[in-house]
Amino acid sequence: MNVQEVRAVWTSDKGSMAKQTAETRWAKIIQGIIDDIGETAAAEDVDCQRRAESIAIQIALKDIKKGIEQNKPLTRLPDDGKLDIQEWNKQLAAIGECSWTNCPWLFGECYMYRCIQRILNSSKYWQNYDVFKRQKDSTFVKSRAAVEELASRYIQIVADTQLAQNESKEEAKKLLFIEMTEIALWGNATDLSLLANLTLEDLQNLQGREAIQKSQRNIVDNDTDDVWAYLQRTVGQASRQIDVVLDNAGFEFFTDVLYAAYLLEAGIATSIRLHTKEFPWFVSDVIPSDVESLFEHLESSECFPGRKCLDQLIPRLRKLFQSGVITTTSDPFWTTPFSFHEMPSKAPALLKELQNSYLVIFKGDLNYRKLTRDGLWPHTTTYETALGPLGRESGVRILALRTNKSDVCVGVPTQSKVDALNEEAPGGAWVRNGKYAVVSFNEGR
Ligand SMILES: [Mg+2]
Repeated sequence: MNVQEVRAVWTSDKGSMAKQTAETRWAKIIQGIIDDIGETAAAEDVDCQRRAESIAIQIALKDIKKGIEQNKPLTRLPDDGKLDIQEWNKQLAAIGECSWTNCPWLFGECYMYRCIQRILNSSKYWQNYDVFKRQKDSTFVKSRAAVEELASRYIQIVADTQLAQNESKEEAKKLLFIEMTEIALWGNATDLSLLANLTLEDLQNLQGREAIQKSQRNIVDNDTDDVWAYLQRTVGQASRQIDVVLDNAGFEFFTDVLYAAYLLEAGIATSIRLHTKEFPWFVSDVIPSDVESLFEHLESSECFPGRKCLDQLIPRLRKLFQSGVITTTSDPFWTTPFSFHEMPSKAPALLKELQNSYLVIFKGDLNYRKLTRDGLWPHTTTYETALGPLGRESGVRILALRTNKSDVCVGVPTQSKVDALNEEAPGGAWVRNGKYAVVSFNEGR
């Protein structure tokens, strides 16, 4: 199957995660926003004009919710003074007649977040309000134990990496890389139970390797060896900027920052650029204000009382940001409904930047769906094929770290492996339940 033939997932596809999401999740997300705005507006210190405007916003949101519940047609977005509106309407016209539960999933869900943002953009007092902040904060604080555990492990891993480097222990260096990559991978599922958790000593004996192998069992397309080989081959390159296109705020973002810091400490990267979204997106995605919010939370002994390792760690991480070794950026392309196959025509400047990057890491489910055009590919399709124009000869080195949470998954090496997975997790559960993952790499050569 090639790019021209692959069909994107629609919210009307029977038995799909897309259908389930459109029918059960979307209206709930909108209701959550209505409640959140109500709660914020009810606070004593809110000025009365802002409070009055919140009522109009809530009514507009209820309208969207009703449209979803009653499967109303998707309609042109009215102007809100932003440049991207035209592109949305052009794309909607290209799809033709469609409705909330009968549209390409990728367009539909992106369109929902843009509808929400349009209402806020058109307001006077709520333009920069993050409708998901309350939810992001409370989820992060709930991951207390995992945050404290990771902080202590990170300090150990960095010490081990230094030791392994000094003693030129190549195998140990690689295993530490695998472990940190897996932390960033499973951070996407907030599930550390799948990690190996090893000491340097463990890593050097058979038992350690077995534990790593076990932790990799659920990675259905695993190109970690290829990434490592690429990194080893190019270690002499003077500028090694790694770009990370982020997914979620809170715990996952914490693991991403740790991964970035590790890549720098291990000498793999010379600088890191983190890509956030410009406005609240897919509930939990990182927006610019989430960066400072991460540090505020980590520095608060109310949120994270186990300070021993955090107090050591946080100033080190802060310094990486302050010195500009880690930077953040947002490109408007990340909040469009386009798959990344459209990047050459819709965001050529961004593509150029990514071509100049040493390695581009895409985190999470939505990025993966966009990389693969949200296509219903046979699972044995190669990652390179599914990447379309970002695959062969694209000049972009793309690593996807994604726990499987939707309908799309490619790169499974053989059909017999697919059959085995279907037996182990029937009904496509291995593509959807977040317990399986991919570490997919393509060099774009
Ligand atoms: Mg997300």
